[in-house]
Amino acid sequence: MVTRHNWTKEEILEIYNKPLMELLYEAATVHRKNHDPNTVQVSTLLSIKTGGCPEDCGYCPQAARYHTNVEGNDLMSVNQVKAQALRAKESGSSRVCMGAAWRNVKDGKEFDSVLEMVRTINKLDMEVCCTLGMITENQAQRLAEAGLYAYNHNLDSSEEYYKEVISTRGYQDRLDTIGNVRKTNVTVCSGGIIGMGESVDDRAGMLVALSTLSPQPESVPINALVPVEGTPMEEQEPVSIWEMVRMVATARIVMPETQVRLSAGRTQMSREGQAMCFFAGANSIFAGDKLLTTPNPDVNEDMELFRSLGLNPQKAFEKKEQPKSVSAEESQYQNLGEKPKWSRPGHKIERNLEAQQKPKAKA
Ligand code: SF4
Repeated sequence: MVTRHNWTKEEILEIYNKPLMELLYEAATVHRKNHDPNTVQVSTLLSIKTGGCPEDCGYCPQAARYHTNVEGNDLMSVNQVKAQALRAKESGSSRVCMGAAWRNVKDGKEFDSVLEMVRTINKLDMEVCCTLGMITENQAQRLAEAGLYAYNHNLDSSEEYYKEVISTRGYQDRLDTIGNVRKTNVTVCSGGIIGMGESVDDRAGMLVALSTLSPQPESVPINALVPVEGTPMEEQEPVSIWEMVRMVATARIVMPETQVRLSAGRTQMSREGQAMCFFAGANSIFAGDKLLTTPNPDVNEDMELFRSLGLNPQKAFEKKEQPKSVSAEESQYQNLGEKPKWSRPGHKIERNLEAQQKPKAKA
C-alpha cells in the first residue's frame, strides 16, 4: 500500500463522515495490512519538570498564568528519572516519554541534564522520547547523539483553530521544530487534541497538516481534552466515544504506517470504547496513573484489558533499531548558547484572558 502525502481536507472529511461500520471496516483493513493488529506499543509519560510554564495553551493546567492546582517543580534528577524508568520497564512499558513544561529548550545545565537522562534510559534498552517544547537543529542533533528515539511536538489542532488556543507561539514554530527533528535520525511523534471546541473541519485540517508531512510522523497521539478546573477550557463538554473512534479510524486510513496513539482522555472511555479504538487502528497507549498532570487508567487495569482482548505489548525497537548513545565528552555537537527567536503572535484569545482573571481553583 502506497502512503499518500497529498490528502485534501475534502477527502479526509469524506472518510471521517462515512457510516461508522464502513469506516471501521476500512480502517481495520488498512491496519491489518500495515501492522500486527494484536500488538500495542506502551509508553510511560514522565513529567520531569512540572508546571510554571510561560505559554498560554488554553487546555493546559501547567500554564503558570491559569490558576489550577498544579504545583510547579524543579527538574528531576537523573537518578530519580532512572528509578521511574526502571519501574515503567517492569510494568511492561517499552518507551519512556519525558515531558518538561518549557516553551523551548535552552542550552545550559538543565538541557545537559536531560541529555544525560536520555543516555541513561537508552542504556536500559528502552525507547526514549522527549517533549521539551521548541528546539533548534543543533539541539535536535544533541538529543539524537545522546540516543533519543522519538521527539514529541504536537500540532494540537488545525492551523486556523490553533489561533483560538494559543497566542504565545505560532503554528509555523511547531512545523519548524518537527523539521529540525527530521534532520536527525530521531523519529517524530506529533498529533493533537479533540474536544477543545473545534469543528470537524478543524479536525480534518489537523489530519491534513500531519498526513502531508513527508515522511509522515512515526507516531500520532490523538488526545481527548481532559477539561481541568482553572483552565480556559474547564467547561468544555467531553467528546463522545464515536468522535474519538472516527478520529482514530481516519488517522489510521490517511497515515497507514504510523502508530496511532490513544492518549489523554482514556479514563473517560469504557473498556469497550477503547477496544473499538484498537479495532479502528489505535496501536499505542500511554500507561501510568498520570499523563503529566491529568489522570490515566492504572497500569494493572491496562494489562487486564490487554489480557481480555488478547493484545500484546510491543517490544522495544521493534520498528526501528536502537540508537547509539554518544557520551558528552565524545559528542560532535556542542552547546552553542543559541538564543533562537521563536514567534510570539500575541493576539487576544478571550477565554484565555478570562481564565487568567479567575481565582485559584479549590484543592
Ligand atoms: S502544553 Fe506545554 S507549552 Fe503549553 S502551557 Fe502546557 S506545558 Fe506549557
